[in-house]
Amino acid sequence: MNYDFNITLSKESRLSTVDFDNLVFGKIFSDHMFVADYVDGQWTNLEIRPTATMEVHPANMAWHYGQSIFEGMKATRDDIGTPLLFRPEMHAVRMNKSAVRMCMPEIPEDMFVQAVSNLVALDKAWIPPAQGSALYVRPFMFATDEYVGVRPSETYRFIIICAPVGPYYAKPVKLKAEETYVRAAVGGVGEAKTAGNYAASLYPAMLAKKEGYDQIMWLDAKEFKFIQEVGTMNIFFLIDGKVVTPATDGTILKGITRDTMMHIMKDKGLEVEVRPISIDELLQAYDAGKLQEVFGTGTAAVVAIVSDIKYKDRVLSLDAENYVVGPMLKETINGIRAKKIADTHGWIQEATIELQAV
Ligand SMILES: *Cc1c(COP(=O)(O)O)cnc(C)c1O
Repeated sequence: MNYDFNITLSKESRLSTVDFDNLVFGKIFSDHMFVADYVDGQWTNLEIRPTATMEVHPANMAWHYGQSIFEGMKATRDDIGTPLLFRPEMHAVRMNKSAVRMCMPEIPEDMFVQAVSNLVALDKAWIPPAQGSALYVRPFMFATDEYVGVRPSETYRFIIICAPVGPYYAKPVKLKAEETYVRAAVGGVGEAKTAGNYAASLYPAMLAKKEGYDQIMWLDAKEFKFIQEVGTMNIFFLIDGKVVTPATDGTILKGITRDTMMHIMKDKGLEVEVRPISIDELLQAYDAGKLQEVFGTGTAAVVAIVSDIKYKDRVLSLDAENYVVGPMLKETINGIRAKKIADTHGWIQEATIELQAV
């Protein structure tokens, strides 16, 4: 179905003030945003309008009780500037899974994809041309009832904003395997991309930073034994020529990049095992000289090479300079997104908009 959007264009573009060669991740936003409201059981007031601040009542329920979810995806371009989306329908599906868990309304998948597509097409000049750079697209939804008291909100707002971004982690990252705090327990909300998960990670992440580590590698909440994921990335290990990634068990965010990477590895004839992997297995592999690579995958970072993992009083140091699989995956996905490598899975879709005379 084709949804009717109201479009209000910005009077003047801010694009000329932006330096694509020196982008700080997530600080600069494109000219337009998409906004829709959920009222009386349906999505209304679908609109693309200039990105701007908005007024919110102090009793806004999202602030008090945390009904707030988001997605993160990237738009890229080919050589001639065609705006491209990557598996947008997967993000629509996951957004709705998060919505269900947080007792929030679902968004029709076609409405989500059309909103992203139209917005990116309208702001396509904001997609940085360099390979590895992108327009980061942030769809999010939050409660808007003005009410103090715990219950699901009856009204919500869905917004999409866009931020031009450069490559994320230039240097290899150092991880600390967390032994005190947990990210997610079975039965909790670890599989939902909901705001509170990130708030809860800030304090342990700050402690890890003080010790010189960039990110936390989370272990399971029950035994602190099985590896879950890292920050906003899923994790992969190359052990003795085989790639292993933790099986999702309700505590791990099901990364779309994770899924994409598994397809690419299969295409390249690499064996991928999806199963529980314990920190002890990792230590043993390291001691036997069989831990070859560790890398994280996610939309923002694409692939982050891991050079060190701290666990208790040990630090596993890896030869990050000589990784093969991690960098190959990054090159491949970035190449597909720039239309330099054939998109054999049909992951790429053009962003389009029909602008009527305004
Ligand atoms: C978003 C996210 C990921 C990565 O998901 P992608 O779909 O690959 O971007 C992994 N873990 C967490 C906790 C996340 O929030």
